[in-house]
Amino acid sequence: MTEPTITQLQPMPTDWQRALAVVAHPDDLEYGCAAAVAAWTDEGREVAYLLATRGEAGIDSLEPEKCGPLREREQRASAAVVGVSTVEFLDHKDGVIEYGLGLRRDIAAAIRRHRPELVITLNHRDTWGGFAWNTPDHVAVGRATLDAAADAGNRWIFPELVEQGLEPWTGVRWVAIAGSASPTHAVDATPGLERAVGSLLEHRSYIEALTDEDPETYVRGFLTAGAERTAERFGGKPAVAFEVFAR
Ligand SMILES: [Zn+2]
Repeated sequence: MTEPTITQLQPMPTDWQRALAVVAHPDDLEYGCAAAVAAWTDEGREVAYLLATRGEAGIDSLEPEKCGPLREREQRASAAVVGVSTVEFLDHKDGVIEYGLGLRRDIAAAIRRHRPELVITLNHRDTWGGFAWNTPDHVAVGRATLDAAADAGNRWIFPELVEQGLEPWTGVRWVAIAGSASPTHAVDATPGLERAVGSLLEHRSYIEALTDEDPETYVRGFLTAGAERTAERFGGKPAVAFEVFAR
């Protein structure tokens, strides 16, 4: 009997300088792809984070007015661990983000401001693969980000952005989806894995509310298992996988 062939993931493109990562909540990037971000910033690339919400509905025992500022602080600390100093928030409402023109416009505006070649977002599909249902916020922000990559380049879509001085940016070459069940590309996780652990650990309030396990044991176990699952499709190297839509 022959072993079934496992399709190998391609290395992520490297001919770019600026990336913008757009997600719904604090911790989405840390669960999704911080080891890749650490490797990219090591190489001198610029990565900025844009979050649609402050994750204020994320902790059952903490009311949103207190939770939002706390999670914003944790997100900024978390980004700093992987070399990201630009972290912006859009003030959509956690848990009830609506896919629509307002969200597309906000993300298109950010793409025009930051002028990235690579845009990152999180899984926009209904499930994580199999029967694990995704959240409506991730679906809305992921879809709107894929759409906004095109909106950013068209001056006649959202003409008010041009009036605000935001000229079209047609330079987005790829949108890469972290956490996709159908990945196409990957980044070696090894150089950035320790910092990815440190980065996710900065979301301490969230993690302590989520699990009784020791936070570091939980975080290290989660990120290592994810990287090792990808290894069989990336030449045996632990990796962070992305589904890449080229533009
Ligand atoms: Zn999330």
